[in-house]
Amino acid sequence: MGEGRRLDTDPLDLEAFRRNAYALVDWVVDYLGGLEDRPVREPVRPGEVRAKLPGRAPEDPEAFDAVLADLDRVVAPGLTHWQHPGWFAYFPAQSSPPAILGELAAAGMGVQGMLWSTSPAATEIESHVLDWLVDLLGMPQEWKTTGAGGGVLQSGASASTHTALVVAREECLVRSGAGPKDMVAYTSSHAHSSIEKGARMAGYGHIRLLATDREFAARPDVLAATVTEDRRAGLAPAFVCSAVGTTGTTGVDPVRRFGEIARAEQMWHHVDAAYAGSAMICEEFRHHQDGLELVDSYTFNPHKWLATNLDCSVMWVADRRPLIEALSVLPPYLRNEASESGRVIDYRDWHGPLGRPFRALKLWFVLRCFGAAGLRRMIRTHVAWARELADRIDAHSKLATVAPTPFALVSFAHVDGNAATDELVDRINDDGRFYITASEAEGRRYARISVGSTWTSRTHVEALWDLIDAGA
Ligand SMILES: *Cc1c(COP(=O)(O)O)cnc(C)c1O
Repeated sequence: MGEGRRLDTDPLDLEAFRRNAYALVDWVVDYLGGLEDRPVREPVRPGEVRAKLPGRAPEDPEAFDAVLADLDRVVAPGLTHWQHPGWFAYFPAQSSPPAILGELAAAGMGVQGMLWSTSPAATEIESHVLDWLVDLLGMPQEWKTTGAGGGVLQSGASASTHTALVVAREECLVRSGAGPKDMVAYTSSHAHSSIEKGARMAGYGHIRLLATDREFAARPDVLAATVTEDRRAGLAPAFVCSAVGTTGTTGVDPVRRFGEIARAEQMWHHVDAAYAGSAMICEEFRHHQDGLELVDSYTFNPHKWLATNLDCSVMWVADRRPLIEALSVLPPYLRNEASESGRVIDYRDWHGPLGRPFRALKLWFVLRCFGAAGLRRMIRTHVAWARELADRIDAHSKLATVAPTPFALVSFAHVDGNAATDELVDRINDDGRFYITASEAEGRRYARISVGSTWTSRTHVEALWDLIDAGA
């Protein structure tokens, strides 16, 4: 320790770290416990947060107390509180105490698990936990790392889908000799924007957004006809994505039919179940993804609905060989005995980034501290509350659902039309205790209530319904 260092501001003093860490945990507990007294969205004007910050970074060390105080002064009043019990907007971005502790432990160890040899436990716990999930979610056994496939944690479903698109492009190139500009990716017109973005980033020349049926599921007859048309035009169909739970309405594409077409046409078949994948921990939802044996890759986000904070997205492949072949580049400085033995997984070869955080730790903590039974209970409770809301909406003279509720999203509109729907959404959000989102499908405005905050209880759902009922 240099003499010039003042102990109370030494950022490397471990005993000070201990005290500060306890103080921070107290802050987090008080924050989460106090959310109900705050509006879901703090009223902030653009630039208001930055205006509270000094123009220059501090030259001299500050005491941690001052840093902590700014969580209350600067940060919390500038947040949209995603963990608020009144959160019904978008989809949830869940967190939970075990996940937060897992994140802290991972940061505490600060390992970088790009290769097995750069932290064997990081790799092996990740492989093992994702193999557990194969069983917990009823996925095909071949998807385990002990089989031909395997799972990897990525930053998000967008990254997983982008990765799948790259592998599909390489497969198509090897098989047909076609260039990316002639390759075509297919997905629902209600698919998440990440499919189109991923296809663009991967260099695909064409993306086809397929028409859907009345329940917002992409139509296999449209897929088959479009592929035939593209082949006739000399293009190379390379990739098809089935959505299990679209973002707009949780529409569910026919995975088996899409898989059959993909097999017949030699296309890569990817499933985007970013939100709804978590529900598969309960057996009664699995019929929505019948046909998984015809799937090449699959992504879902524990960081949405499996109690694990951002970022934590699962990507499974049925066969890891094409993935590793597409992404493995070996510079001399990464050569090591373990990798060369072929007996270990080097996750850097499973996605774009090299450096990777120890994401599996928080997922492991969550699975152990909730238990599968606890997670099933949470999912079932959310779905039951959502379906209750949907029933009340359909029984209401002024409201009607616009899509089924296979999971925990209720999509509904005011019977008087778009303006009345938007007004209702504004009235609910202006109250401050809740946040829901509005969207549009086929020219029709509708409201989305996504039940799924870790901290939502029945009282919040009841209070939201009272507000909807009074506002309609
Ligand atoms: C949220 C969502 C995504 C994007 O997930 P990220 O993890 O934010 O990249 C992709 N697809 C669907 C269906 C989603 O709901």
